[in-house]
Amino acid sequence: MNSRFTGRLHLPGEDGYEQARIGRVFNARRPGRRPAAVLEAVCEQDVVEGVRLAAERGWQVAVRSGGHSWAAWSVRDEALLIDLAGLHELSYDPETEIVTATPSVKGGDELNPYLGRFGRFFNGGHCPSVGIGGFLLQGGQGWNARGWGWAAENITAIDVVTADGELVRADADTNSDLFWAARGAGPGFFGIVTRFHLRTRPLPKHLAHTVHAYPLDLFDEVMTWLHGIHHTVSDLVEIVAVTQTPPGEREAVLLVTGVSMTDTPEQAAQALAPLHANPYADRALFRIEAQPTTLAEQLHNQRTANPEGHRYLVDNAWLTGTAQDVVPAMRKAFTDHPTPQTFTIWFSMAPLRELPDMAFSMQSEIYSATYVVYGDESKDAEYRAWLDEAMADLQPVTAGQYLGDSDFTNRQLRFMGDEQWARLRAIRAERDPKGLFAGYLTADEPPTNTNHWER
Ligand SMILES: Cc1cc2nc3c(=O)[nH]c(=O)nc-3n(C[C@H](O)[C@H](O)[C@H](O)COP(=O)(O)OP(=O)(O)OC[C@H]3O[C@@H](n4cnc5c(N)ncnc54)[C@H](O)[C@@H]3O)c2cc1C
Repeated sequence: MNSRFTGRLHLPGEDGYEQARIGRVFNARRPGRRPAAVLEAVCEQDVVEGVRLAAERGWQVAVRSGGHSWAAWSVRDEALLIDLAGLHELSYDPETEIVTATPSVKGGDELNPYLGRFGRFFNGGHCPSVGIGGFLLQGGQGWNARGWGWAAENITAIDVVTADGELVRADADTNSDLFWAARGAGPGFFGIVTRFHLRTRPLPKHLAHTVHAYPLDLFDEVMTWLHGIHHTVSDLVEIVAVTQTPPGEREAVLLVTGVSMTDTPEQAAQALAPLHANPYADRALFRIEAQPTTLAEQLHNQRTANPEGHRYLVDNAWLTGTAQDVVPAMRKAFTDHPTPQTFTIWFSMAPLRELPDMAFSMQSEIYSATYVVYGDESKDAEYRAWLDEAMADLQPVTAGQYLGDSDFTNRQLRFMGDEQWARLRAIRAERDPKGLFAGYLTADEPPTNTNHWER
């Protein structure tokens, strides 16, 4: 079978199979699921041949781009896993300001340093090593998603290998059903994207940040204040509140942060000023206000918070409601962490921007996600129970979930609008009638796009 490919096909039992199965999975809490084979594709024709081989053998197809799915969606029992690490290309056209990138390209480590040479930027994932493949398909909450929108909104076209084993271009006019679905279906997408064509934006000339650190006993007061003002802050500021234990410290703190993406220090000071007007500022443990920063520094902070080689349990919720309802519901997730490396984020999306017509269609003004970070395998069940309790507290103020931090084998929430969900299933039935592509990974029942407590 290997003669069919320029890349390499690994079968179970062969040297290299185990490494190919899970070696590139970011989360050290790795699944036991066993693909029928793993294809390390190095060109588009390999992907085409891989899809055709799977169809001949009666295997399903799973895909890996950057390997950063927390739940290791790429590793599926009895499927052909097509790993795209070896298909690695980038090119920029200064005329159109469009960058073309293969899905295994890493947004922060590779795409932005490349675009920086042309004075351009793409709002890729916060952690620099996230692959653009899985990230863009599920919407992509990139830098300043609040002001610049979802990264998938900047896809102008994709090249896709379909269930028929054909390589096609999809954009707003051609194969527009695939183009619509690719922007939000996430792991439910029924094709393999081999190239993204992405609209870029000018590289901001001046990055600045504000960080206020508060003791956790001010959590309710500070978060109630932030809840009331975040929608008034300039859309050039990414606003994140996070509770975490700073390196070398023993106590977790609440950090209220703003990163402004402007062109001058004056614009930055003005954009960040509302965050300095916090009435509890004089009780902050420390304050950095509108100081220059760099993307490299911000990416370094992300990498430090998300260390490689650790076990992760992750869950999330789109929150909605008044501060009186939302803030108390968040307390457990934010103030009672089971390990020192655990962190919980509150990410402003306010004021909500209208979304274009695409599969991605679930958001609210506040996104919250908890990342339980640890090393001891024997703690899996204990920490899972903690995370489930923290998410249960959030249920009364939860509208749904973002695919990027979800694990449907643990719990299922609503992740797109009803209309979009119906349309996605209809397109899938037409494009992949035999269910060649593995789709959403669940424990037993297929996804229903409803919050589990509302069924
Ligand atoms: C440390 C860390 C930080 C993160 N930060 C962010 C963030 O800031 N914002 C955010 O939105 N998300 C973030 N995420 C979540 C991340 O975007 C998702 O897990 C995403 O799926 C990762 O993409 P990937 O290609 O690296 O993953 P993979 O595990 O390779 O892919 C995940 C799944 O996406 C589908 N897929 C991937 N590539 C293709 C393709 N070419 N064609 C068809 N289907 C494909 C497949 O179903 C695949 O199994 C983060 C994750 C980690 C681990």
